[in-house]
Amino acid sequence: MRRESLARSVARDRRPAPAPEEAARRYVNQWVEDEAIGVERVRAFVLILKTRGCYWADLKGCSMCGYAKDTLGRSASPAELEEQLRRALARYRDEPYVKVYTSGSFLDDREVDAESRAEIVRAFSGRARRFLFETLPEFVTDGTLGPLADAFAGELEVALGLESTDPTVLGRYVHKSAAPEEYLAAGDRVRARGLRAKAYLLLKPPYLTESEAVDDVVRSVGEAAPHFDALSVNPVHIQNGTVVEWLYHRHRYRPPWLWSVVDALRRGAERRGASRLVSFPTAGGLARGPHNCGECDARVLAAIQEASLRQEFSLLEGLDCPCRPRWAEAGGLEALGVEA
Ligand code: SF4
Ligand SMILES: [Zn+2]
Repeated sequence: MRRESLARSVARDRRPAPAPEEAARRYVNQWVEDEAIGVERVRAFVLILKTRGCYWADLKGCSMCGYAKDTLGRSASPAELEEQLRRALARYRDEPYVKVYTSGSFLDDREVDAESRAEIVRAFSGRARRFLFETLPEFVTDGTLGPLADAFAGELEVALGLESTDPTVLGRYVHKSAAPEEYLAAGDRVRARGLRAKAYLLLKPPYLTESEAVDDVVRSVGEAAPHFDALSVNPVHIQNGTVVEWLYHRHRYRPPWLWSVVDALRRGAERRGASRLVSFPTAGGLARGPHNCGECDARVLAAIQEASLRQEFSLLEGLDCPCRPRWAEAGGLEALGVEA
């Protein structure tokens, strides 16, 4: 009998049972965060809707992604999505930037049906200046984008989890279903419609050393920049029910150092062309998130945030700490599970 792969058994174990109606009437989470539109500092309203989630997470899933736990195990009905939106709008204070995520693809009809999508976008039209959603590239078509562009009076931003432009890193280490070219082409389709395209780049997928991971992001910045208006470097944090967590528990994975984020931004800034380059690390400074020694984490995170918001990467120069040489030594070791 054929042995089940680690990725598929992890995907099977994390899949939730179909949720009752009450659970489907509540969104997963909502918060407000600092952002920028151009050089202007603004507040961003972030909403995670509860949907069936990413179809790829059910089949195999990406090695670092545990969002399946935030899903319904079935599609949400239009009425359930409407109720989630109603509850979210009760908390909305006209923040200029709105980001709506679904633990998958906003443009996948199985997660959010076409009418609900337009309703959600329309609800923020005239109130927000920019509306962001995330999707896999195969759902980026004229048929999905057109009605949303018509429904929103401001700027639509389409985010794609490109992660890496290296086919081996993307396919074998991250386990994405589509090749890098498909993400780049989707970015081009978005911009051809006059919308904004944003790509997420993953810092330190499993099986790369710390220094290989930084090199991968820097190269990806250069190769993705012509196709996107904004590039966001997302250092891995360890989510429940993932291959990365499986490796972490066996001491075969350490989340990236914040020094690696600093290095990726400084070197990436030279290759970003006209695109915006940012990083807002999730779980920064925590054991399961990108972290340094503990003493310098808050200071380095603050510099990363300021550099990102202001697009002034000189703010990352002059940072130092006694742990920095340890990071430099760790560069080549950690894919083997060795902590310097
Ligand atoms: S990272 Fe994106 S494509 Fe991969 S499993 Fe998660 S939601 Fe799906
Ligand atoms: Zn330190």
